Amino acid sequence: MKSALKIHVTGIVQGVGFRPFVYRQAKLHLIHGWVINSADGVHIHAEGEDKDLDSFCMALADDAPAASIVKQIDMDEIPLEGFDSFEIRVSDENKLNNIGTTLVSPDLATCDDCVKELFDKNDRRYRYPFINCTNCGPRFTIIKELPYDRCNTSMDKFKMCNVCEDEYTDPTNRRFHAQPNACFDCGPYISWKEKGDVIWGTTRESSDEIISKCVKFLHDGKIVAIKGLGGFHLACDANNDKTVARLRKLKQRSNKAFAVMVPKIDFSVTKTEKEILEGVVRPIVLVKDPHICAASVNMSLSELGVMLPYTPLQHLILHDFGGPLVMTSGNIYDNPICIDDDEAYEKLADVADAFLGNNRDILTRYDDSVVRVLNFDGVQMIRRARGYAPTPIKLKTKINDCFATGPEQKNTFCYVRNDKETETFVSQHIGDLENADVFDAWLEAKNRFEEVFKIKADKTYRDMHPEYLTSKWAKDATDIQHHYAHIRSVMYENNLEGPVAGFAFDGTGYGMDGNIWGGELLIANKQDFERFANFSYVPMPGGATAIKDPTRMAYGVLWAYDLLNERDDTLDKMIEEGVNTPMTSSVGRLFDAASALLGICKKSTYEGEAAMLLEAAIKETEYDKNYDISIVKNNATNKSTARDTSVVLFDAEPTFKSLLKENDIGIAAYNFHMAFVRAILNGALLANQVYGIKDIVLSGGCFMNRFLIEKAVELLTDNGFNVALNKEVPPNDGGISLGQVC
Ligand code: ZN
Ligand code: ZN
Ligand code: FE
Repeated sequence: MKSALKIHVTGIVQGVGFRPFVYRQAKLHLIHGWVINSADGVHIHAEGEDKDLDSFCMALADDAPAASIVKQIDMDEIPLEGFDSFEIRVSDENKLNNIGTTLVSPDLATCDDCVKELFDKNDRRYRYPFINCTNCGPRFTIIKELPYDRCNTSMDKFKMCNVCEDEYTDPTNRRFHAQPNACFDCGPYISWKEKGDVIWGTTRESSDEIISKCVKFLHDGKIVAIKGLGGFHLACDANNDKTVARLRKLKQRSNKAFAVMVPKIDFSVTKTEKEILEGVVRPIVLVKDPHICAASVNMSLSELGVMLPYTPLQHLILHDFGGPLVMTSGNIYDNPICIDDDEAYEKLADVADAFLGNNRDILTRYDDSVVRVLNFDGVQMIRRARGYAPTPIKLKTKINDCFATGPEQKNTFCYVRNDKETETFVSQHIGDLENADVFDAWLEAKNRFEEVFKIKADKTYRDMHPEYLTSKWAKDATDIQHHYAHIRSVMYENNLEGPVAGFAFDGTGYGMDGNIWGGELLIANKQDFERFANFSYVPMPGGATAIKDPTRMAYGVLWAYDLLNERDDTLDKMIEEGVNTPMTSSVGRLFDAASALLGICKKSTYEGEAAMLLEAAIKETEYDKNYDISIVKNNATNKSTARDTSVVLFDAEPTFKSLLKENDIGIAAYNFHMAFVRAILNGALLANQVYGIKDIVLSGGCFMNRFLIEKAVELLTDNGFNVALNKEVPPNDGGISLGQVC
């Protein structure tokens, strides 16, 4: 029996070779009809014998291309129309219902087939820096609007040559409807600029000349700004200490680790790390430092951020250079990365000795993503950007359409669209919204999201902090407490109804009582929370200054615990009179204080530096119980609501007392960390005693400390608790926007 089906496929099905795949399957299963792309997914008209239709539909679900994500396949029986072949139809703009629900895949690393051709002397695209196919290449970074067709991308200005056009229109070709399809005849091309005019690589010879110039510059210890997928990188020889130091100085990044790009993995990594390094996303992976470059690259931290080339140009450069290159974002200090050639010439003029640009415009700014693999094989997102965003994160919780601004640091924002199910669109990492340029980048990214996804929010959520630029922008928004947002982000990702015992440990977040929170144990469900325990308040003399100056934090801590040997009149006065001295329960600040007291870090040049160096100093040993953080009843008399005043307090006085007595820095660092791990267990036991809670949530920037999270998960699990962590969003403030929506 012959019949006909109308099939509608939704998910990430555009720009991933889905239609050629459907075409091949149709041929294979003797199906006639057609397939078409539209803004709401892929539509198929399929006619054939019933058994063939069955196997065709099965193949659609089971054998879809690697980069696609099939969300749903809807089928309806319709009358036979008597087609005698199968064809791919061109998208008809007028017929599109313009709801934009079809998802565009994030940018994809150059696939193996394309890499092979790139280095094949006989291939017509031999050493062409923009080679791509339907399985790889730029996507979201070049899209103006949906549907994903060449005319809606920044490739629209390049007219395909006849050969490219033939590939593009041949359903059996690997480049069938590969929107960024290109070659030396049609462009785009790379460009080179030193001091004078810009030169272009419009032929293989001139293109190669530029690449060899670049490689020579790098060998000579120079810094080159190279345009990538989501923005410029600043590149230099990772084994040249002098150049690395110069880059640090010019980029105004004195101590923060740089990531490196390596031509191949010739050092030891775990199986999961290797899979991620070589996958279609190609993020930066923080691996155990393999000592393959100058120690100044990662400032002797225990991990090094490494990645493999993900664009054809990077493949060519890394291949020709033959060693690790520092590849850091093309910006000064914390500004947005440059995406435009002219912008880079201007803003990076004092840093880069030369510019390797190109004429394919980047329409959306994307940093490299950063992940790490924890010892229990869990993948921890650290920065979610290129390759991951804007893939929607589906939630089982029902949430209506809304927008969340995210916080100030490591900002992402989040849109929720509820169309039968809850999809959350967490933006790529935007950065620290501390200056006008980053705030402009935030607005720009937000507008692009609205344009591309056709999302509109009915309601807006923001952080409670009155000084955040995003909170000021979203005047009529609903406030969501920072640490509750951290905990709720994990509950959403793990579909936990609660109540859970949520440990939110981080640097800074505005609290319900107006103090700075950051060492919180919240009892939470998806609607509300109670502050069950927190670290006892310590003063931060100088406020923001104390964050940059851990010695001040150390003074505040010793003052609070009455452990001071020498007094400083000015600081005493500040603390006692409360002059620019907020009170904080932040665990991040306690780590800063410990780092300063041990002489590890007395000046912090970036967020988390003191704590990271403290972690790097750890020497594993037998735990000394004298370090134990005590849990005491909270005698606060100002208790007004369950949301602002805890029942019990964590008191780190014994921890600091023991730390001051220890002579060995490594042992002190170990015991200090373990004290927090054990406090988490003790807090969980107490929450279990009082509320019978078994589900423990860990979130907040402090849990980017590998030692802390790995040990805490181990100890909690050993004691019978279920531990939930962030999955697709980071535990740091990059995950806040997801936790804000409700
Ligand atoms: Zn490819
Ligand atoms: Zn061409
Ligand atoms: Fe936070």
